Amino acid sequence: MDLAREFRRFKRWTKVWGIKHTCPFCHRPLSRFIPAGLDVPVLYDKQVVGGGLRESARCYICGSMDRERLVFLYLKHHSNMFKQHNKVLHIAPEPVLMNCFRQCKNLFYLTADLKSPRADVKLDLTALPFQDDTFDFVIVNHVFEHIPDDNLAMTEVLRVLKKHTGKAILQVPISLNLERTFEDSKVTTDEGRLEVFGQEDHVRIYGQDYKQKLESAGFSVDVFDWNIDDKHFSNNNKYGLIKEEKLFVGSKINSMKLG
Ligand SMILES: [Zn+2]
Repeated sequence: MDLAREFRRFKRWTKVWGIKHTCPFCHRPLSRFIPAGLDVPVLYDKQVVGGGLRESARCYICGSMDRERLVFLYLKHHSNMFKQHNKVLHIAPEPVLMNCFRQCKNLFYLTADLKSPRADVKLDLTALPFQDDTFDFVIVNHVFEHIPDDNLAMTEVLRVLKKHTGKAILQVPISLNLERTFEDSKVTTDEGRLEVFGQEDHVRIYGQDYKQKLESAGFSVDVFDWNIDDKHFSNNNKYGLIKEEKLFVGSKINSMKLG
């Protein structure tokens, strides 16, 4: 045990201890999660779920983010991720989720990213160096909004996912009031992308057609709403999740591209 780290965590905990919330990663009972996210006008204007400044985004103790907690709780309660041997590919791995997976003895766990030094493998999501039907789980949590050819990236994720049993977690920030995904190829600077898409390295804002985009790439898509699972998620939002955030889970079942 890292005693210095535990002491720092304990000191932080004295500021947010309580009974209303719990972090599913560090298991501390908390009075609140703390704010995080970018305070950019377009993200409010477009009502982007999963982007922008959120009041209850980060765990003050371990640093887990709302979107990591949702993915973890879904995998824990609605998949066999932690119950059997699985091959997992995690793209652009979030630190807390990654550390959690790394401790799971049942997982063959590989992290990958175009640039991040903390990933096991450097790769381009539009040209994955893996054979077809390799992974039981592929986790792509807030990545497609960075990639110009997102359809190609989606088809690559589908290709390496195991037929029938594989599950891909396919999260992106989504606008509640844009019917169709918004892109503009004339926006080419960091400042422009920040203003128009809400982040310097985003190339679009997804709209309500996101599920259709995944289906066009060949996925069968389940849209999971954590609000309907009171048993594991709690409607008083014990785990500090985004009320409107749905989980997009893709599989290779009815795909025309099964090969
Ligand atoms: Zn925590």
